[in-house]
Amino acid sequence: MRAAAAVPPVRSATMAAPMDNPLLGQDPLPRFVQIRPEHVEPAMRELLTRSRVRLGELAALPAPTFATLIEPLEELQHGITRTWSPVSHLNAVLNSAALRAGYNACLPLLSAYQTDLAQSEPLFRAFRTIAERDAAGLAPVQRRVIEHAVRDFRLAGVALPAADKARFKTVMQELTQLQAKFEENVLDAANAWSWHVTDPDELRGLNEMLIEQARRRAHERDVRGWILTLDQPTYVAVLTDAESAGLRRAFYEAWATRASDRGPGAGRWDNSQVMEQILHRRHEAARLLDFPSYAEYALATRMAHTVPEVLEFLHELARSARPAALAEFAELEHFAGHALAAWDVGFHSERLQRARFAVSQEELRPYFPLPRVLGGLFAVAERLFGVHIRERQGVAAWHADVRFFDIESAVGHRVGSFYLDAYARPNKRSGAWMDECVGRKRLASGTALPVAYLVCNFLPPGADRPALLTHDDVVTLFHEFGHGLHHLLTRIDYPSLAGINGVAWDAVELPSQFLENYAWHPQVLQQISGHFDGGSPLPLEMQSRLIATRSFQAGLAMVRQLEFALFDFRMHSEYSPEHGGRVLEILAEVRREVAVVPVPEWNRFPHSFGHIFAGGYAAGYYSYKWAEVLAADAFAAFEESGVFDRATAQRFLDAILARGGSRDALDAFVEFRGRKPDPRALLRQHGISPADELTA
Ligand SMILES: [Zn+2]
Repeated sequence: MRAAAAVPPVRSATMAAPMDNPLLGQDPLPRFVQIRPEHVEPAMRELLTRSRVRLGELAALPAPTFATLIEPLEELQHGITRTWSPVSHLNAVLNSAALRAGYNACLPLLSAYQTDLAQSEPLFRAFRTIAERDAAGLAPVQRRVIEHAVRDFRLAGVALPAADKARFKTVMQELTQLQAKFEENVLDAANAWSWHVTDPDELRGLNEMLIEQARRRAHERDVRGWILTLDQPTYVAVLTDAESAGLRRAFYEAWATRASDRGPGAGRWDNSQVMEQILHRRHEAARLLDFPSYAEYALATRMAHTVPEVLEFLHELARSARPAALAEFAELEHFAGHALAAWDVGFHSERLQRARFAVSQEELRPYFPLPRVLGGLFAVAERLFGVHIRERQGVAAWHADVRFFDIESAVGHRVGSFYLDAYARPNKRSGAWMDECVGRKRLASGTALPVAYLVCNFLPPGADRPALLTHDDVVTLFHEFGHGLHHLLTRIDYPSLAGINGVAWDAVELPSQFLENYAWHPQVLQQISGHFDGGSPLPLEMQSRLIATRSFQAGLAMVRQLEFALFDFRMHSEYSPEHGGRVLEILAEVRREVAVVPVPEWNRFPHSFGHIFAGGYAAGYYSYKWAEVLAADAFAAFEESGVFDRATAQRFLDAILARGGSRDALDAFVEFRGRKPDPRALLRQHGISPADELTA
């Protein structure tokens, strides 16, 4: 057996000749064993230079057609992704200073290449010519490839007059910088704050690991007692576990006022102006492209199409969730025996949940050994979609723990493969995800089967026991495997629309959230559980307590998500240069409508809301709930016909999983479900009565 791979050594400063660069090979799988940090930048430079030459040739074609222009462009993009994918993957799972340097050096090269491609007028003209002249002779999927490309050209500002085009580019660059500034402020504000504890009583309720860490930190700083810092795990632990209400309040205040004009760091990293500038530039970019607002610009690539459609969707959920949330909050205050402040809610909720369900994630662990769970998960996929999943030995990966699987059709043809990197280890990014290693293609220039990375961060096996999962872990594994099936079971031949590519961003979580449902199903729970010592399945009584936790405080959780979503969406649709962002006013209005937990006047939650100010969720926070509705409603179809009904599963495969981005997400859903998605499916899944049923 290969020794656990450490960080690949940098052997010499000389750069490998392009010919031996393992990143530039055309092998079916990346040559992980040979890839070294010093290969990264030369490979990408070489590839992008070659690609630019090819782009120049393609842009100069006298009479371009789908076959002579668009297929080669698909091939080109496929090649870039295929070379870059192992690099960004290794950067995430086997990080080192050398690799990070190579990776970071390539980011601006890649983004410059993509921008030049997206703003290429000759290519844009060629696409439009092909669309107008040849559309009748093209297959629907080919027309869709063109439609998406033309859309993305426009959204990148290709069709603007020169001055506007330049302005658009500037605005986009300024946005990148402002968004980075926003994040830096949040980070700096959090890093600047800590809490010094000298009375051990104040630590009551906190777990040993955290206390030990705090003690060590105090020691390092040469002070007595304990130092607690304002990172997310500590914040969450304090708010749920600390018995001292004073400690909870201090943490809540520091957290909820990060990078703002209030709280302990008031004014020092204030994001107020940064937020205004971000909103201003987003609005300007949208207006340059003739959209009334940034929200409309964002919707141009989504499943939801109009502002009222999104708002109505959120309001409808709120009408049902709010009564449930009010009842849950009243119950919680009754349980606590007094009125609750914002910093009390997490603490008492945790206690109520323990009192009511008496089930903890740690207690569940022995029942979910990874081999058993994997076997059960594969059995679910095999039963639903008629595929076979088998491990392939001897595939060299980036670490000895990584396993490799092939997925075969009912008649034994390989349709795709995936790596599974299951365990946490140093230099590996936290969290879980699925990513594309190789995308499916079937082009005149060659074919490729899809390959995926499934990455988790489970507790590794011990000396005398297998890896044991919490039920949260099990749900995570099912979630990522759902993304994996979307990538691997695709039947689309063009890389830009295959698998998860080209899928509307508010619909891309449908397969993953859909598959999560199976991790809660009694029949599946019996199949995937088996005590590592003796093999007995999860006791039924424990199982029903576990299932009951799924809807615990579902109303409170939902109104909180709806508050964020409405705030985000209204802000991006109502912005006007005259009145500015009205950030705090809009938040106050939204809270009056949906919020249940009282929030202090000095709360400055928007100032650290990185999802929408720094990240990709601008005018998109609603997507969480949107995709949950799709998933719940899709699963409801299975509940109606039997959760393993083959015909229903085949329809789901044909209409959604296999289709990639080749079809409008709503049309695909309607094809599967026979009607539009129904938000009530999500409410029922969480035990919340839909508002219209309450009044009926
Ligand atoms: Zn996901």
